[in-house]
Amino acid sequence: MRFEILTLFPGMFHSPFQESILAKAIEKGLIEIRIINIRDFATDKHQVVDDAPYGGGQGMVMKVEPISRVIEQIKSKDPSAWTIYLTPEGKPLKQERVKELSLRSHLILLCGRYEGVDERVRELFVDEEISIGDYVLTGGELAAMVLIDAVSRLLPGVLGSDRSAMEDSFSDSLLEYPQYTRPANFRGHEVPEVLLSGNHQAISLWRRREALKRTWMRRPDLLKKAELSEEDKKFLEEISKQMSLNGDNSHKR
Ligand code: SAM
Repeated sequence: MRFEILTLFPGMFHSPFQESILAKAIEKGLIEIRIINIRDFATDKHQVVDDAPYGGGQGMVMKVEPISRVIEQIKSKDPSAWTIYLTPEGKPLKQERVKELSLRSHLILLCGRYEGVDERVRELFVDEEISIGDYVLTGGELAAMVLIDAVSRLLPGVLGSDRSAMEDSFSDSLLEYPQYTRPANFRGHEVPEVLLSGNHQAISLWRRREALKRTWMRRPDLLKKAELSEEDKKFLEEISKQMSLNGDNSHKR
């Protein structure tokens, strides 16, 4: 998978791709990341990349010409490259979309700054707009990093074992079950006995039920999309009854 990041602040990307799983994925050639400074595509003497908004108002707007030059250059070599503008006005990023994007081979990620980009960039050069949440960042760089991280870990070979991504939260519209490691007893808080039993069937059932319970408590909206067996549905009915008896529908956020 090839990622091309269009940014005015290339320095921001140095460390995140030099550590841990992403660094190894780059080393193994599973992902390739090219960081492009949009300023290099400004042709005037002062390499101007932004200007005041027409109609007045605060802040600056990123100009269309330098961005159009970078995208056209990339697309002239690979017309299948898919251009994403990171913006709070985009569609909120969900694991489902992350999975679909992981099937592509070439993504162009446009990072905005200031008041964002000239609308004609969006009209003419952007295929998709993505938001990483309902809040406003100072720039699209962190959002691009989030997207690259989420997509990369789904690529074959990037994680140590392919199973680990399959069992993560959202992979089947459920949150993940609780995880424990040594010690078995920490200040009197013990690891659930079943996990120490060596009984794989019982562990698997416990994990399924904990995932269902956690999703029901924290993100009931996800359950609408989850594939649930009759046994799962019965279990959910039981916990729903139990909780309403206890008057408890609270959870940690
Ligand atoms: N004026 C813009 C608005 O109100 O929608 C906000 C611009 S923001 C200060 C600068 C840049 O940060 C945006 O162009 C975008 O690239 C990026 N950005 C900010 N919040 C984001 C989010 N939630 N998701 C993705 N990108 C975001």
